[in-house]
Amino acid sequence: MTETTVPLIRKLAKTRIVATVGPASEDPDILRRLIQAGVDVFRFNFAHGSHERLQTVLTQIRAISGELHIPVGVLGDLSGPKIRLGSLPEDGIWCGEGDIFFFVRDPAQADQTHLTCTYDRLIDDLKPGDRILLADGTVAMTVTDRAADGSSVTCRVIEPGLIRSRQGINLPGVRLSTPSVTEKDEADLGWALEHELDFIGLSFVNSAADIRHLRQLIDSRSPTVTPMIVAKIERTEAVADLDAILEATDAVMVARGDLGVEAEISRVPILQKDIIRRCNEQRIPVITATQMLDSMQTNELPTRAEVSDVANAVIDGTDAVMLSGETAIGEHPVACVEMMEKISLEAEPLAARTERPVQRSRASRRATPVTEAVATGAVTVARELNADLIVVASESGRTALALSRQRSNVPILAVTHRTDTARRMCLYWGVHSLESTLVRQSADALLQYVVQWGLENHTLQKGNRVVVVGRTNWLGRGQDLMMVYEVP
Ligand code: PEP
Repeated sequence: MTETTVPLIRKLAKTRIVATVGPASEDPDILRRLIQAGVDVFRFNFAHGSHERLQTVLTQIRAISGELHIPVGVLGDLSGPKIRLGSLPEDGIWCGEGDIFFFVRDPAQADQTHLTCTYDRLIDDLKPGDRILLADGTVAMTVTDRAADGSSVTCRVIEPGLIRSRQGINLPGVRLSTPSVTEKDEADLGWALEHELDFIGLSFVNSAADIRHLRQLIDSRSPTVTPMIVAKIERTEAVADLDAILEATDAVMVARGDLGVEAEISRVPILQKDIIRRCNEQRIPVITATQMLDSMQTNELPTRAEVSDVANAVIDGTDAVMLSGETAIGEHPVACVEMMEKISLEAEPLAARTERPVQRSRASRRATPVTEAVATGAVTVARELNADLIVVASESGRTALALSRQRSNVPILAVTHRTDTARRMCLYWGVHSLESTLVRQSADALLQYVVQWGLENHTLQKGNRVVVVGRTNWLGRGQDLMMVYEVP
């Protein structure tokens, strides 16, 4: 961006919007409208879409983001060890209550009662008493026996229903011996690093060890840009190991789709609130995902329950809300984003604030004690003075994160000279990021730029107060600085 071009602020809501890309949103015109409507991060679901196809979309997103001067992040969501049923007859198979089925290894043995799946160690990992959930959790079986030669397991249907080819299989509470990063994930990760994606999602996380393993894989490839890791919490095992996972990860997604199958669906709201609260306390950006505006896949308006769901996630303290099928295959992708903006704006004044200081979180999420104190002071000063904007000069994004966590009603403009920082801040609540090398020059140059930005966007007018904060080199050596400025 040239230093004289001032990008227009295009959204007012502070809650970040993650939108899944798919056939409904791949068109460049739709991508542009989605960005203008408020999408902060696009999600590439590696379970669908070839690298070639994603490459085209990525090129378009980056071009449009550059043209509009709006930083946009991209999240590459690794599918993880998702287990699926093998092929079944076209009409599916009815599983009646009490019916007996067998899981077998050999696809040649598959028939109306002998089932196969994509995970070759399923039979080794199951033991009598384990539960197998099929068809989005609507069909349940319990394991009753395991063949002595290890060739099959026997199961009895306890919740009847229809199962179809390639449907997902969930095994709540079963410790899987599969690695959390599959061969396909490794290939997808390689592509994501090569293309400098900003966030990497890991599905079906069991424990903190899975996150550490992914981080080692990333580090071993020495990427030019190190992405933030997003731990998807969708297994009860992950919920049980959440403290350690929060220690290891950079961000979290409450993946309510699979979580609603692995845990009792009725527990999802309580788990969501608990996960968001603990993420807030540890200063970890958290995304609430799945079925937020599901009915808008076909309808122009959401249900009252969906509106309440989005609003409640914002009130709980979520940093971001996510659209899945709504933007990937739905009929109204842009309207969904506009609706999320509207709901967030209404709910944000009630958003939960975490008063407790961050103590246990990883050093990468904390600025120095002095910067932390100055950032806290800046929000207090902005509140006391009724300031209109907080401007933060941020290299790594840590000061911006410290400000974001305070859930200030005053908008935050984070200026950085680094493209990767500008994009990762797209997941920080309440932070608008701007990329500019002026931040390295002088406070004066930055202020002039910001004031021009604010006046053109109508976020600032004569007499408004701007609180500027940053760890900068403006006075000749690195130091923390806070300044109150009045727009002339
Ligand atoms: C989920 O299960 O809620 C989720 C976000 O994961 P995916 O879309 O990859 O199934």
